[in-house]
Amino acid sequence: MDQNTLHPQIKAAYRVLETGEPISRAEAVQLATLPGELALDLASLANKVKNRYGSGGEYLHACSIMNAKSGVCGENCKFCAQSRHNHADIEVYDLVNEESVLIEARNCISEGVSHFGIVTSGYGYKKINPEFQKVLDMIDRLHKELPELSVCASLGVLGEEPASALAAHGIAHYNINIQVAPDRYHDLIADTHTVEERIETIKLLRKNNISVCCGGIMGVGETMLERIDMIYALQELDVSVIPLNVLVPINGTPLEGNAPVSVADIVKTFAICRLAHPHKVIKFAAGRETIMKDFQGLLMLSGANGYLTGGYLTTRGRDIADDRRFAGQIASFN
Ligand code: SF4
Repeated sequence: MDQNTLHPQIKAAYRVLETGEPISRAEAVQLATLPGELALDLASLANKVKNRYGSGGEYLHACSIMNAKSGVCGENCKFCAQSRHNHADIEVYDLVNEESVLIEARNCISEGVSHFGIVTSGYGYKKINPEFQKVLDMIDRLHKELPELSVCASLGVLGEEPASALAAHGIAHYNINIQVAPDRYHDLIADTHTVEERIETIKLLRKNNISVCCGGIMGVGETMLERIDMIYALQELDVSVIPLNVLVPINGTPLEGNAPVSVADIVKTFAICRLAHPHKVIKFAAGRETIMKDFQGLLMLSGANGYLTGGYLTTRGRDIADDRRFAGQIASFN
């Protein structure tokens, strides 16, 4: 691409490609306000930066999750089908047994996916209670029987004791999302807990040398500039993996009628996230099938270098095999 024909703000951002240094927040704000028709120029730069600096180069990071405990959560996250404050029609069950987890994990391996996350609904674990101990036992069993698998967890807010236990049991990554700009969490996401509790958990994880997977969700009523605030909050927290979700409005939740985010805004958000985090793994997660539809591939060319495959917590995604074919085609664009 002839850089002389580029918009001056995108041209200036090509500096990231030379230096590997992230754009500033002020530059991100300028890029965020560019008209939608320039999204592809921005995506093209983000794709080059991803190829040069994104962790793993041309390799796409795939992971799969299992909803190991579903529903009846006492928290009131507005987007979530599992909150008992909401009225979504979902399957509800207590913590599953080790055998079910093993079956899912084996399936993950047989489909060529290296990272498998155990996810539980609920606030989290401030202490090691019997349920948390069962999760630790599951992690041990997975490590013993499937040593090639990287085991991750997403169990909500943690206290000191559970965080250090997860480190001792060797999890690969811990997922806990800040979802939106921290100062908007209370209004846009939930008021039964605070974003500070989640940030404290992230600090605890880092103190215990656990790699943090932390990102957010688009389409919950945030502005483009607030998305930039979230991206830079993640930079401050120095997380390793950034999953970006797009709201899939679920009937029975307060956000069921939310308007979809435009494809151009989603592409811009991924591209700006890559320019602010040149070296990180950025994954696209929920929403890519339902919201992005035929434009899914565009996200991989907008700076993402990973994806969540095989379905989400309460909504189905694409089959892992379909995703592998898709990833193969996208990688060939690199
Ligand atoms: S996102 Fe997690 S904490 Fe929030 S309502 Fe859903 S299950 Fe509960």
